[in-house]
Amino acid sequence: MPDLSSLYRRGMLGITERTWVRRLFTEYPVGRRLATRFVAGEGLDDAVAVAGALNRSGISVSMDHLGEHVHDAGSASEALADYMACLDQIEAEHLDANVSVKLTQLGLAVDPSIASDALAKLAKRAAGAGTTVTVDMEESIWTEATIELYEEIQPRFGNLGVAVQAYLHRTEDDLRRIMALGGHIRLCKGAYVEPPEVAVQDKRQVDARFRHLLTMLMGETATYPAIATHDNALISDTYALARSRDGSFEFQMLYGVRPTLQQEILEKGYRLRIYVPYGSQWYPYLTRRMAERPANLALFLRAVVGK
Ligand SMILES: Cc1cc2nc3c(=O)[nH]c(=O)nc-3n(C[C@H](O)[C@H](O)[C@H](O)COP(=O)(O)OP(=O)(O)OC[C@H]3O[C@@H](n4cnc5c(N)ncnc54)[C@H](O)[C@@H]3O)c2cc1C
Repeated sequence: MPDLSSLYRRGMLGITERTWVRRLFTEYPVGRRLATRFVAGEGLDDAVAVAGALNRSGISVSMDHLGEHVHDAGSASEALADYMACLDQIEAEHLDANVSVKLTQLGLAVDPSIASDALAKLAKRAAGAGTTVTVDMEESIWTEATIELYEEIQPRFGNLGVAVQAYLHRTEDDLRRIMALGGHIRLCKGAYVEPPEVAVQDKRQVDARFRHLLTMLMGETATYPAIATHDNALISDTYALARSRDGSFEFQMLYGVRPTLQQEILEKGYRLRIYVPYGSQWYPYLTRRMAERPANLALFLRAVVGK
């Protein structure tokens, strides 16, 4: 049975898919203003400036050029070029940053071989720039293909990482598959609406799954765990597991979410990486952030009525 917060999340993601709601957000300044809380800006320069400032405070960055679900080879190749430009800037500006990519943005839905070529090119360019590439995890229809591409490309370059979603029933088995390949593994709760056959629906169950997978990840040293959550209880569990961990790991959080908590983690001496999204395709990303927290919707409504 889904709990109230899961029902809110589902309802919110359903509503924001409607055309008139999308227009309200994207065609009026109020939506754009809300987006600036969670998105660095529309240009690569905006993201580079934010990344530089975060680096100066001791925080690493993962840069995400927003976009997903491209339906033609031309758009996939544009996305690849955008990411190549981002890696050029990471190298030129000596940023402590990597890139996060969505395989549907690199053409997975058009032809898996397009996404595979693009991921190999990015891994090679990132290695040249002394950095890594993290593959985001998208809706569950893409999970198997994403893991298969990770299995294909990671052994060739060794500088990839991949996200896993605690809410999926399949994730424990996936984790065993990918842990064997090394790299960094980002553990997150999961941000999409999935049916009960595929994912647990209740927040407490998702948290319990997260805890179980966290213990698996922190208990081995073949991979580098990236613990991606803003949840106090799970962060405390990570602190406890870190005491007996023989190896490094990092926390990951989203740009604009719980900055005070980010500061606390840094002050305790842990590594922290902030996910910095940028680009003009910010709407789907913003809807997922709104769905995570009712107060974010309230921010929008207050801005609409001008209070
Ligand atoms: C670095 C990073 C990368 C991610 N990559 C992926 C991915 O590849 N695939 C994927 O499906 N999901 C990804 N996610 C999203 C993730 O799955 C969750 O949807 C999101 O992190 C919210 O879950 P939570 O663990 O923070 O816990 P929650 O229980 O949702 O929140 C914990 C606390 O943080 C606060 N909080 C959470 N979200 C927000 C917000 N948007 N605004 C303000 N406060 C908030 C809540 O109020 C609550 O107090 C990523 C998250 C992070 C941090």
